[in-house]
Amino acid sequence: RKLGNHKVKTKCPVCGDEITTRIRVRSYWVTWCTCCICCMVGLALCCYAFIPFCVNCTQRVQHFCPHCNNLIGTN
Ligand SMILES: [Zn+2]
Repeated sequence: RKLGNHKVKTKCPVCGDEITTRIRVRSYWVTWCTCCICCMVGLALCCYAFIPFCVNCTQRVQHFCPHCNNLIGTN
């Protein structure tokens, strides 16, 4: 499931409780490196639209249930 980068209120599919997800953010260095090059190309072209994209693509956010620790979804 796509849940975005922030905590969300949802129903846990495992324990059935209404919960606010616990999130864990991971950055991938290789992805970051690729995005860095992407950003530099973007800057060289004076195309600032690249920057928010580059910041976003380095992060992987996982949402967990605080009760049963089930992985509910990602960003
Ligand atoms: Zn749960």
